Amino acid sequence: MKKLFYIKTFGCQMNEYESLRICKLLEEDGYAAASTYADASVIILNTCTVRQKAEDKIYSELGRIKKYKKADADILIGVGGCLAQQEGVKLLKKFPYVDFIFGTKALPRVLQLIHNARKGDRIADIAMETTCQLYSEHPYKPQPGQISAFVTIMQGCDNFCSYCIVPHVRGREWSRPADEIVKEVQSLVKESVCEVTLLGQNVNSYGNKAIPKTTFTELLQQLDTIKGLERIRFTTSHPKDLSPELIRAFGCIPKLCEHIHLPMQSGSNRILQHMNRQYTRQTYLEQISHLRTVAPHISITSDIIVGYPGETDAEFEETASLIDEIKFDDLFIFHYTDRKGTKASEMPDTIPYAVKIDRLKILNERQRSISLEKNSACVGKSYEVLFEEHSKKGDGCIAGRTRSCKVVNCMGPESMIGKKGMVLIDKAHIHSLTGKLI
Ligand code: SF4
Repeated sequence: MKKLFYIKTFGCQMNEYESLRICKLLEEDGYAAASTYADASVIILNTCTVRQKAEDKIYSELGRIKKYKKADADILIGVGGCLAQQEGVKLLKKFPYVDFIFGTKALPRVLQLIHNARKGDRIADIAMETTCQLYSEHPYKPQPGQISAFVTIMQGCDNFCSYCIVPHVRGREWSRPADEIVKEVQSLVKESVCEVTLLGQNVNSYGNKAIPKTTFTELLQQLDTIKGLERIRFTTSHPKDLSPELIRAFGCIPKLCEHIHLPMQSGSNRILQHMNRQYTRQTYLEQISHLRTVAPHISITSDIIVGYPGETDAEFEETASLIDEIKFDDLFIFHYTDRKGTKASEMPDTIPYAVKIDRLKILNERQRSISLEKNSACVGKSYEVLFEEHSKKGDGCIAGRTRSCKVVNCMGPESMIGKKGMVLIDKAHIHSLTGKLI
């Protein structure tokens, strides 16, 4: 039987990155990537359970892939990630054609699980160790010519926001040693990478538990000295941990790009308190003001939850008014869904679905016009763009991002992919810009 694998990833950038890690482990063992489920001898779903919608999608995907196992009993099906961590052996019982389960800390043991499954052992590995050797023992190698890469700097979360399943499925916060991260970025740069995005559930609290302590800003300073590295990004931040030192970093660390994703979640202090977010509307506004003082052109994006249990019309309006006041560059707006095991799920989910959807639509509509307004302000100006790929439209354009993470499309030679160029913006859209290479 040919050793071919197919991985489908659900959810966030962290999952995408971890899927790349799984690919690497499989390739080291002689597997090659298949282009479809039908060609694969091992199928893996890397799952997410942050929202009900993600979970629903995974269950329907599990239904869809059953036919491959039916057609060929030798095919192995594995389920990993957050849903696997949460459901464990229940998934094996519910889906008898699933062969192995690996939780969020079991990535290094995937090959062993596959090996066991080949012998007929159906195992759910959801052990939660506090550290993980995956990163040091299996360093990530970029694809030839790859210019941008994710680097996990920490895992887990200690915050226990009332609505969030992450601390329950990814465990307590744990940071990688700074010297290990620096080495990884140096080796990525030696290949072809010139832009890194540092990943963690709450990168602002990076290093808090390390001895000796390295702050996130100190880590950024160390990375800034790496020759050949041109851009540093990070995600995600927590407003309560956004230190004045980190805000100042946007003005004095040259390679740090002017973009921050700073989840606000609600504009109502009562709801924020219920969510256990540990900041207020006022402190959030102050942080935005400080960021814009230090880096006037910084792009700020955020997450919002509407329809949190008990959210009144007036509290929803407080969120809407804060959005009008701040004018984010982009927003990711979600309606609340109960996540089993969280504090919020113990409260009655009082807001009717139709009301949640109405609130979602209202905010999306407002944000669309704000995004267009913000992007329109870029017209007539020129920006440094790092070109990453052919435009998704397939019209011969190339696409890249500004330092502030805005997507720019323009006509240009393929040879520009992987390079930086200045683009004069001539048109603004809600989610992108178009212009001319100058
Ligand atoms: S900070 Fe809150 S929302 Fe973010 S991962 Fe931790 S618990 Fe979840």
